Amino acid sequence: MEPIKVTFLGTSGSVPQKDKNFASAVITLSGSNLLFDCPEGNQRQLMKSNVSLMKIKNVFISHMHADHFLGLFGWIATMTLNDRRDKLTIFSPRGGKQKIQRIMKEIIKPSFEIEYKEVKTGIILKEENFSISAFALKHEIACFGFVFREKDKEGEFDRKKAEKLGIPPGPMYSKLIAGKKVKIGKKTFTKKDVMNYNKKRVGRKIVFVSDTRPINTTITKAMGADLLIHESSFLEDHQQNAIDSLHSTAREAANIAKKAKVKQLALFHFSARLDDVKEIQKEAKSVFTNSVVVKDFDEIKL
Ligand SMILES: [Zn+2]
Ligand SMILES: [Zn+2]
Repeated sequence: MEPIKVTFLGTSGSVPQKDKNFASAVITLSGSNLLFDCPEGNQRQLMKSNVSLMKIKNVFISHMHADHFLGLFGWIATMTLNDRRDKLTIFSPRGGKQKIQRIMKEIIKPSFEIEYKEVKTGIILKEENFSISAFALKHEIACFGFVFREKDKEGEFDRKKAEKLGIPPGPMYSKLIAGKKVKIGKKTFTKKDVMNYNKKRVGRKIVFVSDTRPINTTITKAMGADLLIHESSFLEDHQQNAIDSLHSTAREAANIAKKAKVKQLALFHFSARLDDVKEIQKEAKSVFTNSVVVKDFDEIKL
């Protein structure tokens, strides 16, 4: 099974901290990199990580608060200096495109095409081996959570089975896998004759939740996920701050993880007053054992 890697480029919320840049993460699978939020300083974080800043095709902006998208401009300027030619697709909530274009117009003329797509509830990107869907969070402005879903594996091609049936190796195999019928003499074979369905596997799921109050939709969307990445701006002692600024506490995030029966919870987007990792860990773990407090450049492999 090909690994899926999540790299945390930053873990702070609202303002950067000495040891933390703003919250952002990259999902890497089969050579493609999906960037979630692009805050100020993000390009330098990319340089320090194992992800090439030139090799990102899709960026998903959760919402248009400065700490989640200001990094786009410096990054695009650098890629322009490096003569990037590949298209970049920026997904952002309604109005994001206009805002980004307005700022961009003043400062950079990109060397590559930028395609803008609006983030709406439902599937926003469908690739051969995965999809990305979005759902509305509860924050001061329109903000979206993202669900990365690897395609389910229906089974595996069984070469021995095919050989036993007398189907010669070569193009016939790919035809059958593609769902086409193959005729050999009087016999007709179909896909199910050459597949081993015992090898089927449910695709991996990663859910990225930035700024929000804890909400039931996150539980539904994250149900059974391999990894839930959830903001944790405050500790329970400061729950009122979380309520007032429409953020979550570590305990609230852990509760979501528990109810959604996820395999692992990664907490990030910490407010500057939240610098005691042990406290965050303790609070989250008291509700959901498999909680981790991530640091900048931490990687989680699935
Ligand atoms: Zn934020
Ligand atoms: Zn925000």
